[in-house]
Amino acid sequence: MKLCLKFSEWRLVYYSLNIKKYRAQYAIIAYAKIEARWSWREEGFLVRHIRAVYPGSFDPITNGHIYIAERAAAVFDELEVSVLINPQKQSTFAMKERCEMAEEALAHIPNVTVNHFDGLLVDYMKQREARVIIRGLRAMSDFEYEFQTALMNRQLAPDIETFFIVTDAQYSYISSNAVRDVYRFGAAVPDMVPPIVERRLIEKFQNS
Ligand code: ADP
Repeated sequence: MKLCLKFSEWRLVYYSLNIKKYRAQYAIIAYAKIEARWSWREEGFLVRHIRAVYPGSFDPITNGHIYIAERAAAVFDELEVSVLINPQKQSTFAMKERCEMAEEALAHIPNVTVNHFDGLLVDYMKQREARVIIRGLRAMSDFEYEFQTALMNRQLAPDIETFFIVTDAQYSYISSNAVRDVYRFGAAVPDMVPPIVERRLIEKFQNS
C-alpha cells in the first residue's frame, strides 16, 4: 500500500512519534488531519477521501436537486450541499430557511451535509479541502452556462474538477423558479418538491 501524505502530515507524524512532551497532542492532530483526507475501506485499505461540493441557490431545494445529491453521494465519500448566499440576487427564502429545508430533505443520505457560502466557489472549495464540484444537467439549455462556469473555475483553480450528473427524465422540467411560480399562484405540484418544501411554500405564499 502506497501512503503518500503531504509534507506537513509527515511532519505531524514525525513529531507525534518523537517529541515526548507533545506526543499526545500531536498524535491527535496528526490523526485528525489524516482522517480528513483519507478513509479506511472495509477491506482494510487506506484510500484518499474525496469531498465533493454541490453548490446552488436551492431556493428552494427540489426533487431534481435531491436526485443529483443522491447520485453524487453514491460516488463520493462525502457530499456537501452548499447554499450560495448571493447579496446581488433577491431570494424567496432566507439562507437559514434554505439550509433547513435542504437538511431535512437530504437527511436520508448519510454522507451528505448542508453548508452555506458566499464569495468565490473555488475559494470556498480550497477552504473546505474539496476537489470536486457537482452540477446537475437538465437540458442543453443548462449546458452552455455550466460549461462556461466550469471553464472559469478551472482557470481559477486547475486542481478542482467539475463533474456533471444528468438528471432523470421525470425531473428534467423542474427548477426552483418554476416551483415558486406554481405555488405563488396557488397551484400545487407535490411531485416536484419534498414535503417540508411544500409546507414552507404554502406558508410563505399564503402569508404574503
Ligand atoms: P435552479 O437552476 O433550479 O435555480 P440551482 O441554482 O439551485 O437551481 O441549481 C444548482 C444545480 O442543480 C445546477 O447545476 C442546476 O443545473 C442543478 N439542477 C437544478 N434543478 C435540477 C433538476 N431538476 N435536475 C437536475 N439538476 C438540477
